[in-house]
Amino acid sequence: MAQETPSPTREDVRGPYARVDGARPGGPLPDALIRLLQQMPKAELHLHLDGSVRVDTALDLARTRGIDAPTTWTGMSAALVGPPQGPDQAELLRAFDLPIALMQDAEALERITMDLVEAKAADNVRYAEIRWGPLLHTARGLSLRDGIGAVVAGAERAAREQGITVRLICTAIRSHDPRDNVVLAETAALFRDRGLTGWDLAGQEARFPDPMTHALAFEAARAGGLRITVHAGEWGGAPQVRRALSVDPERIAHGPGAADDPRLMAELRARGVVLDLCPTSNAQATIVPTVAAHPIARLHRAGNPVTLSTDDLTVSDLTLSEEYRNAVERIGLTLPELWAIDRRALDVAFADEATLAPLRTAFDAWAAGIPELAPRA
Ligand SMILES: [Zn+2]
Repeated sequence: MAQETPSPTREDVRGPYARVDGARPGGPLPDALIRLLQQMPKAELHLHLDGSVRVDTALDLARTRGIDAPTTWTGMSAALVGPPQGPDQAELLRAFDLPIALMQDAEALERITMDLVEAKAADNVRYAEIRWGPLLHTARGLSLRDGIGAVVAGAERAAREQGITVRLICTAIRSHDPRDNVVLAETAALFRDRGLTGWDLAGQEARFPDPMTHALAFEAARAGGLRITVHAGEWGGAPQVRRALSVDPERIAHGPGAADDPRLMAELRARGVVLDLCPTSNAQATIVPTVAAHPIARLHRAGNPVTLSTDDLTVSDLTLSEEYRNAVERIGLTLPELWAIDRRALDVAFADEATLAPLRTAFDAWAAGIPELAPRA
């Protein structure tokens, strides 16, 4: 996985926005390119609500709900942002305990969802899929249906106000009772017409490695019209990514370890399974040794469909524009490659054609004004 990605050649990047010819990954980007990445219309498919709580909102919720938590901005920020590099996935998951404690009533869920949609709109994300585990938010008596309804309402309202398109993914948790996850799937499917379009499984992979434990929940989600993704390879590398194929997903959340297994890469290509990758988050969880060593460029160049996301706005303390910058500066993706990855998200998103077609038109119109990205005659 630590294999070095090749540097782009002179032919790969040209013009005022592109990386300086001959610059090695790790070199600073020109200001114009940094601005371009901010302005670029972006689509983000792998983003967790509970990992994206605003510090100000967390302070307010802790105070008004009587939750034992830091009372200063600095203290709260330190509690919500994950360690730059933890020993493993289980350690990183601990950063979610406090946000989940704060997200136990409808008002809090709706507000946090609106905050996140606003933050994404400000970063020029025009299409976002936000996921969360509704069963984690029923500890203080909130019903599953009311909890899901609150996130749906927050997403609808903020999307309308901000002029961006949002879809939601319901995440089942690996450690939960498989029967509860069936009920979750059935309940989530009731909100399909209100933008809840996807189904996911996440959580501690080392302790609960087999997604087929929840086969009935996947079946119920599919029967309810939800589209299927699953977290994989946050532990266990390529074999865990292969294992995830047993639930027949359209997309896999993470799975960078696939790059170590050429046969698996070929199978993912043949099946058209997309990897929704998050380099900074993967480095935090030590799935990859460093952001620079992340195999997103290698996978993309091999023809494997990939998308690029942050995973978590707060836990990773990262905007999508910053992750795009990392992808060019540290990983060595060229601007056209990065654009292709961004644009692909609109081809694999969990939304219908009527929703996606105008977004594609808008993205393409933007790219037409950038010489490096305009389609060649
Ligand atoms: Zn994730």
